[in-house]
Amino acid sequence: TTSHMNNQQAKKRLIVLTGPTAVGKGTVEAALRAKHPEIWVSVSATTRAPRPGEVDGVNYWFMTEQEFVDKEASGDFLETARVHNMALYGTPLQPVLDHMNRNIPTILEIDLQGARRVKEKASQMGLDVVYVFIAPPSFDELVRRLVGRGTENEEQRAKRLETARVELAAASEFDVTIVNNEVDQAADDLWQIIAQEYGL
Ligand code: 5GP
Repeated sequence: TTSHMNNQQAKKRLIVLTGPTAVGKGTVEAALRAKHPEIWVSVSATTRAPRPGEVDGVNYWFMTEQEFVDKEASGDFLETARVHNMALYGTPLQPVLDHMNRNIPTILEIDLQGARRVKEKASQMGLDVVYVFIAPPSFDELVRRLVGRGTENEEQRAKRLETARVELAAASEFDVTIVNNEVDQAADDLWQIIAQEYGL
């Protein structure tokens, strides 16, 4: 009915994808996006350097610490976190609000600290959030993936593994866990959750 549609449009629905580092959140998200281009995935700001092939405004908004801190002070971010004790990451608030207000499936792919930050603010902001924890098949597999990616030096890798060990224990804080055994399957599982949340 029309009133049902209006209710749906008034709700600020949001999907938060979180999980340990190198669990394949980004890969699952890319597979989902390829199958369902109607979703919108937030582009985060970060102070880390671009990796080869990464494009400003596509993969991230790359910026200096000073720019980031200034934007944070202006209230431009929904959440921020310093990840692996290194770079700052944050979700620009306005684009998220714009997409939620248009009832476009809106996805954040953020670390656990960021997901917890969103949890703290969600009810106050009137957000209806589904938190999805992406888990690796096992810790050994997580280590294998992290080493295999080869984008970090040894010190960075050690930090990330330390973080991952702690983060694996956090699954119970979130609504749903998807085990990333196989990317296509994980993307399909994720779509089921999104479709249900948005009534698609
Ligand atoms: P990477 O540097 O490998 O692209 O990302 C490192 C970690 O930062 C990943 O766990 C990723 O989910 C997280 N991340 C990316 N964007 C954001 C963000 O906007 N906020 C938070 N809290 N974490 C983010």
